[in-house]
Amino acid sequence: MIKKDGHTHTRFSHHGSNESLDDYIERAISLGFTEYVVTEHAPLPTAFLNHFTGPSEARHGSAMLRTELPVYQKEVKRVQLKYVNQIDIKSGFELDYLENYESELRQFIITQADWLDELVISVHFLPNHDKLVAPIDFDPETLVKYFPEIERTPQVLFENYFNTIQKSVRFAATLPNDFVIRIGHMTLIRKYQKYFNLPKFDDNNQLLIDDLLRQIKDNHFQLDFNTAGLSKPYNGETYPTADIVKKARNLGIELVYGSDAHETGVVGQFYNVITPDSLKNKNKY
Ligand SMILES: [Zn+2]
Ligand SMILES: [Zn+2]
Repeated sequence: MIKKDGHTHTRFSHHGSNESLDDYIERAISLGFTEYVVTEHAPLPTAFLNHFTGPSEARHGSAMLRTELPVYQKEVKRVQLKYVNQIDIKSGFELDYLENYESELRQFIITQADWLDELVISVHFLPNHDKLVAPIDFDPETLVKYFPEIERTPQVLFENYFNTIQKSVRFAATLPNDFVIRIGHMTLIRKYQKYFNLPKFDDNNQLLIDDLLRQIKDNHFQLDFNTAGLSKPYNGETYPTADIVKKARNLGIELVYGSDAHETGVVGQFYNVITPDSLKNKNKY
């Protein structure tokens, strides 16, 4: 039986731990994982960095630098060989989808296609009412600063978020098809739901979610079943939430567990507590 962690980070995240990739892999092996995907944040496009208006920590905080790319690839290749008899290690990226930077992103992925096994495509940045592109998952203060509607009209922000994910799926459909594509943590906009006391998605947003799932299905993409939110004080749920997991399963979309580990202790977290299988007949947990 395959036991897979499909969404993991490394020291190249810069906001995570400095532990070696070997330590992450050995943790996964000790937990009985048979497959492991290294999905470090791909470098952000230079033009985007030059125009970025958000907090500088968010700008440089997560993605690896372009100059680090060769070292990252060498590291992944090294552990693939070192642990070849113990675990199947796939090479990957978590790619930030950025509206208006599609051609740069596509060019980057094309240059990586011969090396890449799996790609997680995520939305961490949204355009706001002033057409500034700002992060949604940095901290609650940054979120409300750039998206004040989170407090009074959160459904408007949800709509912006799901529209942007729809664009990310359409973008993904233009990429080469020789690697696996997964849509990352598709309810990340709820990361601070307890802080802002966010309501459930309204009917309009449910329709956007249904559309989104159909597009994911039609393109044979997978969904990241991401447990990082379960341990976050203001979240406490999986991404996507259980009701969406159920819809995705009914459509036959493949959900792939991802710990989103930024430190070795988090590899495999909540795998045994909540897996897509355990949600089969449940709406809530
Ligand atoms: Zn992410
Ligand atoms: Zn991640």
